[in-house]
Amino acid sequence: MTTTSTHTHPTPDSNTAHHLSLAETAIAHNYRPLPVVLASGEGAWVSDVEGRCYLDCLAGYSAINFGHGHPRLLAAAREQLERITLTSRAFHNDRLGPFCQDLADLAGMDAVLPMNTGAEAVETAIKVARKWGRERKGVAPDHATIIVADGNFHGRTTTIVSFSSDPVARDGFGPFTPGFRTVPFGDAAALENAVDESTVAVLLEPIQGEAGVLIPPPGYLQRVREICSRENVLFIADEIQSGLGRTGTTFACDIEDVTPDVYVLGKALGGGIVPVSAVVSRHDVLGVIGPGSHGSTFGGNPLAAAVGHAVVELLRSGDYQARAAKLGKQLHDRLESLIGHGAVAVRCSGLWAGIDIAPALMTGRQACEALLARSVLAKDTHGSTIRLAPPLTIGPDELDWMCEQLAAVLTGPGSAI
Ligand SMILES: *Cc1c(COP(=O)(O)O)cnc(C)c1O
Repeated sequence: MTTTSTHTHPTPDSNTAHHLSLAETAIAHNYRPLPVVLASGEGAWVSDVEGRCYLDCLAGYSAINFGHGHPRLLAAAREQLERITLTSRAFHNDRLGPFCQDLADLAGMDAVLPMNTGAEAVETAIKVARKWGRERKGVAPDHATIIVADGNFHGRTTTIVSFSSDPVARDGFGPFTPGFRTVPFGDAAALENAVDESTVAVLLEPIQGEAGVLIPPPGYLQRVREICSRENVLFIADEIQSGLGRTGTTFACDIEDVTPDVYVLGKALGGGIVPVSAVVSRHDVLGVIGPGSHGSTFGGNPLAAAVGHAVVELLRSGDYQARAAKLGKQLHDRLESLIGHGAVAVRCSGLWAGIDIAPALMTGRQACEALLARSVLAKDTHGSTIRLAPPLTIGPDELDWMCEQLAAVLTGPGSAI
């Protein structure tokens, strides 16, 4: 692994201090990162500007499912960089068709509408659903409603934060987009009651990531599927974080053997190299979008398509899903043993975990700072929860080591920080 030269810097930490001060003055404060400045990465490991190594247990919020610098993804990107990177959709490019065909195939769907970031794909799904409701269901103009879940995270655009239940994500950003109805996550009866003739879609994360890896009760996704089918409402699964191997299956919906009408994908689809997102669905749904009614300058560009295609190739073997399932069991066993020893609850799905820390012990942020000191990178969410999402390429020994560090933070002598 490469390390950054410190020749021009007299003290070991001056590089870090320099970057932290730049962050203070030159970067808008829309994040509050842990005080570590990363410079390189390989596999599940990253190193900072001082040359210190860390196990990356956030993996770019699951954008790095295949690890840093996966050889096949890098090769696909490099090869495409030399050929052509951007054509615009005014013309065809030779990467997009094969990518979309294989992605649709992986999802058991017909076609793909390519975008860039996750939020754009969610916006696209909302537009598709509204137009589908107008044209195919006969919902009155400008009356479409979409049912969403409390505690959702679907991105940061003004429309998406309009139906967020997180005050920090919303406050000050109004006026908000109408047309959304919120129900409790995991409550199928509440969802059923919220459906009326204006309802065009139900938009859900099958497992809520940002909320702390919240897993709905068994049978919930099947019930949602049944309700949507019966009521002629689109089931849109936002699998931007839960999809593409994370849960031990290709999609989190697979856990309940459920096929939504629309998948929204992002994050790992870009292999951690470029932003690639997509709306994947059937022709009868995507068919409502005609030329000129939606688009993106960068969406479906050849570089993104080449990398996305390489990601789909990796997933086609099923190896990563199997690995996440197997290592997920190990992770779950180790984490369960922390309940009553610093943790009050643990939720696991594949290589994805939310750990609620005993609030009296420390905050999630403090736990992540203590993990950082032990060379583990993780991210807190909602006060007292830590989320773990290591690359699916992590080894069993590394996973054990990560759990040991967490146990030491939660139960060790210095646990009160
Ligand atoms: C990250 C995320 C998004 C937004 O993706 P961006 O690429 O940050 O716009 C949307 N939905 C879910 C479930 C996510 O985890």
